[in-house]
Amino acid sequence: MDVVLTGDRPTGRLHLGHYVGSLKRRVEMQNSGNYKNMYVMIADAQALTDNAGNINKVRDNISEVALDYLACGLDPEKVTIFIQSQIPELCELSFYYMNLVTVSRLQRNPTVKNEIQLRGFKQSIPVGFFTYPISQAADITAFKANLVPVGEDQLPMIEQTREIVRSFNSTYKEVLVEPEAILPENSMCSRLPGLDGAAKMSKSLGNCIYLSDSSNDIKKKVQSMFTDPTHLRVEDPGHTENNPVFIYLDAFCKDEHFAAFLPAYQNLQELKDHYQRGGLGDGTVKKFLNEILQSELKPIRERREVLAQDLGYIFKMLKHGSQKAEEVAAQTLQEVKTAMGINYFNGNELNK
Ligand code: ATP
Ligand code: MG
Repeated sequence: MDVVLTGDRPTGRLHLGHYVGSLKRRVEMQNSGNYKNMYVMIADAQALTDNAGNINKVRDNISEVALDYLACGLDPEKVTIFIQSQIPELCELSFYYMNLVTVSRLQRNPTVKNEIQLRGFKQSIPVGFFTYPISQAADITAFKANLVPVGEDQLPMIEQTREIVRSFNSTYKEVLVEPEAILPENSMCSRLPGLDGAAKMSKSLGNCIYLSDSSNDIKKKVQSMFTDPTHLRVEDPGHTENNPVFIYLDAFCKDEHFAAFLPAYQNLQELKDHYQRGGLGDGTVKKFLNEILQSELKPIRERREVLAQDLGYIFKMLKHGSQKAEEVAAQTLQEVKTAMGINYFNGNELNK
């Protein structure tokens, strides 16, 4: 049976990219009941790797992310939700894994390269940030997770983890489990672009629709979205590929949305054909997208508002989840240390 682990950095509230890229899949998996254990980690220690001076931001967003989880349907009775920094075993594992990875291997990681550029680190890259793929390997292997539902940007991290697992198992003993990434079935969801057309909707880029946004904010954000810059007049032919409005429709639109909100068309292909031919204005398409997003996000927002009334419950749930997670990580750490031959003591005896 599968062991599933995923996580999110508490650098902001969760957005549509998280929802289609990973969160929706987690809830489906949880509800299928078809797994042995499922862990969801709030990666505060990882968030600190590029927010060292911004403790309050990370701290405040822990409960925001937890609220987003529960509002989307994650159920703490079925899933262990925990806070990364509360599991010190993860640091210890990272420390040993560091010896199995070279600096040049980390330098080749395309996601880290891209994030270094986006964050403007230039030569001043925090060591913690540079090595976060190793700490991610600790997060995944501590729970012996074999499945990790993620967006596309995480593929290099999973690959790095797999290499560490192979290296550990062949250098010491078969203890660790090689994980597999699961991407969303709809490829448009693996990397949802930003409202501004940037390659990725990302908390750090501020180009997001958040799951908690008010109905008015969603409407304003959709209206301001980047579309096809060559589609100047309604009658001009337009491009649907690389057009975020159509990419969002690819990610969210179902045929029944047409019956409900835009009955002049039967399906998305008809709408795309019209846009490409010319004669369909961005305003109409955006209005349609707004209706769809409003209907998808309203129940999430309403559940979130109710949950936010009782933050005491949220922190109790996180504490309990962290305790449960630590027990599992501690067991793996013991196995790791035994495999490495550095579990020196057995009570007062020396381990051979
Ligand atoms: P930050 O900018 O702080 O890195 P982020 O928005 O990239 O934040 P993360 O917490 O790093 O969010 O990512 C959590 C999970 O959500 C990962 O599995 C990631 O692949 C997925 N994810 C994040 N953004 C998107 C997106 N735009 N499209 C699809 N999946 C996404
Ligand atoms: Mg990220």
